[in-house]
Amino acid sequence: MSPEYLTPASLPEACAALAQAGPTGRVMAGGTDLMVELRARRLAGLEPSGLLVDVAGLPELQGARLENGELWLGAALTFSQCQDHPLIREHLPLLAEAARRVGSLQIRNVATLGGNLGNRSAAADGVTVLAALGAVARVASAAGQRQALVEHLAGQGLAPGEIIVGFALPAPASPTAAAFAKVIRRQAVGIARFNLAAQLTLEGDGQIAAAGIAVGAVFPSPRRVPEAEALLLGRRPSPEMWEQAAQAISDDMLRACGERPSMVYKEPALARVAASALELAWRRGLANPGRRP
Ligand SMILES: Cc1cc2nc3c(=O)[nH]c(=O)nc-3n(C[C@H](O)[C@H](O)[C@H](O)COP(=O)(O)OP(=O)(O)OC[C@H]3O[C@@H](n4cnc5c(N)ncnc54)[C@H](O)[C@@H]3O)c2cc1C
Repeated sequence: MSPEYLTPASLPEACAALAQAGPTGRVMAGGTDLMVELRARRLAGLEPSGLLVDVAGLPELQGARLENGELWLGAALTFSQCQDHPLIREHLPLLAEAARRVGSLQIRNVATLGGNLGNRSAAADGVTVLAALGAVARVASAAGQRQALVEHLAGQGLAPGEIIVGFALPAPASPTAAAFAKVIRRQAVGIARFNLAAQLTLEGDGQIAAAGIAVGAVFPSPRRVPEAEALLLGRRPSPEMWEQAAQAISDDMLRACGERPSMVYKEPALARVAASALELAWRRGLANPGRRP
């Protein structure tokens, strides 16, 4: 029996439908991960059943806005919208840059930011960016609403019946001092071997006052690397400093993953990519200061 499909008109209706469906209810947005999963189940002889609750059109999950210095990103934003939205391009060029690197145009046109977190992939590009930016996810269910750091939610996952409504984050003080890097096998598929998002806050003289650095695909879920962030603070940037921070990132990966055959390639590759990305973020901030404090 195929799953039933529901297009609710509002968030409370979606929450109630999921609560009623129990463990067989699933949230669906762009379907780029979920359809692949359901097809795999069917091919394995496990006929998918239950209820699919399509949240992509819910009004509560749409758009991006800036209020009192805080940005709000709806969970139903597609990566194409993240790429083109004027507010995101101005205040979160890091997210726009990462969105451009997601899959193909067909995928970007339907794949959502909420689905990127809901899928709990270690390599989720949008989640790596949101983690670096310290974004907080707002989640709703029939039991009410709660908030959690994206970085934590990526590790812990959602409770049954929960819907990601959107993400709140402070507008970066130096929006242009940012860079996203990603190493992939094939552009057509786009899933990262590893990805890295860096957002720096620069002082007037180019010193780094704050840093958010997150890495994906080398940990169980995308997460920040506080040791690398701390190495950048209050220092005058130099090639040695970028290399030390990059080394801290690849050391963290080695601690998390242990010695594996792939580390012979991954460890120096991550260190090199990280050093270049951090320096690029800083140089972009210097060249185009934006709203420096
Ligand atoms: C060919 C291809 C290329 C891809 N390339 C990339 C890439 O380069 N980078 C990348 O990061 N990903 C990539 N992906 C993975 C996928 O496109 C992304 O993870 C996407 O963001 C998923 O969003 P969606 O709206 O399609 O989610 P769906 O498939 O609809 O859902 C995914 C999961 O999240 C849950 N979910 C969805 N929305 C919500 C919500 N609002 N609240 C709670 N749970 C929710 C669903 O229940 C499901 O478990 C690729 C996938 C394919 C098929």
